[in-house]
Amino acid sequence: MIKYVPDMTSLVLEEIPGSLTLAVEISNCQGNCKGCHSPFLKTDMGEELTPAVAARLIKDNFGVNCFLLLGEGADPVALLSLARCLRMEYPEIELALYSGREQVEEEIWQAFDYVKTGPYIEEAGPLNSPSTNQRLYYHGKDITQRFWHKKD
Ligand code: SF4
Repeated sequence: MIKYVPDMTSLVLEEIPGSLTLAVEISNCQGNCKGCHSPFLKTDMGEELTPAVAARLIKDNFGVNCFLLLGEGADPVALLSLARCLRMEYPEIELALYSGREQVEEEIWQAFDYVKTGPYIEEAGPLNSPSTNQRLYYHGKDITQRFWHKKD
């Protein structure tokens, strides 16, 4: 089972470049990042994110063109099943996964258009810091540099 935190569901513009993204926070995080920004996401909180629930969220947010899971949870079978259901039902909506792991399985690359890898390391900074250890890939291509805006 994959669980999300309904109150934290939001439309975002920055997380996936060029997309109007519906982002859901996934609980039961298996990561262990030092300086974790959201330790409560490591607990079994929230509600089940079934394909039907995800479909309702998409319908309630007309115009979104990307669905982003912020975290993987603790049930990889349910995660992939959810992604495959959404792909079938909404082929026009891209799927994104923020994983906290260094590497993900081939099935994850296949199931999601965007995949973010790497744990959060405070000293390295988040995705928009040029010193970040994290990477965002689009169909396997590293697009992390798109977050490094020039300041002039
Ligand atoms: S991936 Fe890391 S920073 Fe994010 S919730 Fe899990 S432990 Fe915390």
